[in-house]
Amino acid sequence: MSTLTETEDRYTGTWWPKRTTTAFERGSGCELFDEDGAAYLDLTAGYGTLPLGYSHPEVVAAISDQAQRLNACPNNLYSGPRARYLEKLASFLPDHLGRVFLCNSGTEANEAAIKFAVLATERPHLVAVKGSFHGRTLGALAATWSPAGRKPFEEIIGQTTFVTRDDEDALDEALDDSVAALILEVVQGEGGVFPLASSFLERAQTLCRERGVLLIVDEVQTGFGRTGSRFASQAAGLEADLMTLGKGIGGGFPLAAVAHTSAVSEKLSPGCHGTTFGGNALACAAGSATLDVLLRDQLDLHAAELGASLLENLDQRVAPLSLVKEIRGRGLMIGIQLRQRAGRFLAALCEEHHVLALPASPNVIRLLPPLTVNQSDLDRAVDALAEVLQ
Ligand SMILES: *Cc1c(COP(=O)(O)O)cnc(C)c1O
Repeated sequence: MSTLTETEDRYTGTWWPKRTTTAFERGSGCELFDEDGAAYLDLTAGYGTLPLGYSHPEVVAAISDQAQRLNACPNNLYSGPRARYLEKLASFLPDHLGRVFLCNSGTEANEAAIKFAVLATERPHLVAVKGSFHGRTLGALAATWSPAGRKPFEEIIGQTTFVTRDDEDALDEALDDSVAALILEVVQGEGGVFPLASSFLERAQTLCRERGVLLIVDEVQTGFGRTGSRFASQAAGLEADLMTLGKGIGGGFPLAAVAHTSAVSEKLSPGCHGTTFGGNALACAAGSATLDVLLRDQLDLHAAELGASLLENLDQRVAPLSLVKEIRGRGLMIGIQLRQRAGRFLAALCEEHHVLALPASPNVIRLLPPLTVNQSDLDRAVDALAEVLQ
């Protein structure tokens, strides 16, 4: 243990366990460097927040330029950086989602989306999918599967109906006229990297339309090229009423958004929601630079190509190992389901190979590398995985 790790534990407590025994001081591209200068290959992209990798020069320049001109501008004033960013973001979003609420984190985006849906429909209930993750604050927690995580707060957060993944009959039953919204991830992330079946998604869209239920797609993890297309819901042919965005949207800067239709927007009235930091100038500058690079370098296509070849390599080298149950994913969002808990293997990857990966549900190793990752880094990762899981 170093002094820095001890200091951090002393002040934060140890309830959020750490995966390394040294502290990080620097990052560049897909690599992190610790206090001793040791390099780690990061296949987590900071929980998926770094589509361009660590400290991408164009994002760094945009933030520092903006900080010198105007570093804040609240939502009761017009702001140049915000107006320019909104225009850029809107042209990247599906056409029907022309309205945007900017905030600071994924959970906040889902909070806002749930409130907007309830206000727009004047209905009280929410339907979500088992295995889902939508955040940890109380509104988003209401939609997050994890009975143990929700239980202590049930009195406060009320009752959400959860349907089993891909169970169309359960969905048919759950979506009655008391339901404001169905919220789902097209590929469940924290729940274990489970893409929902396309027939389930189609049915969800149809039932929502028929019954006046709004469809909220949570693209906090899957958005901005992660799954090999701009948005996973777009690739699945969905036309959601609300789409929540976070993680990679700001290239590492805290930024999130709720894109929604004008029909939803028209039902909102002054004072119904708000944010102090949301849409601040630094976040807009970071988001804008991130989007420029994503578009210029076609990182969604890059993610699709590299993701396909990574999946093929994993299928050849890792899938046959007896520990491995299934490998699944889209683009550069991949889950390796084990027959045992993933923790020990993640620790070995880190300690023996200096490769960082994430868990997703107890038995899944999740890979979310920066979208700028190259083939040789991914080859090295597959070598390390094959050795550790041997
Ligand atoms: C991470 C995540 C969230 C929560 O985002 P925070 O920024 O941690 O609040 C919500 N939904 C999905 C799908 C996520 O992956």
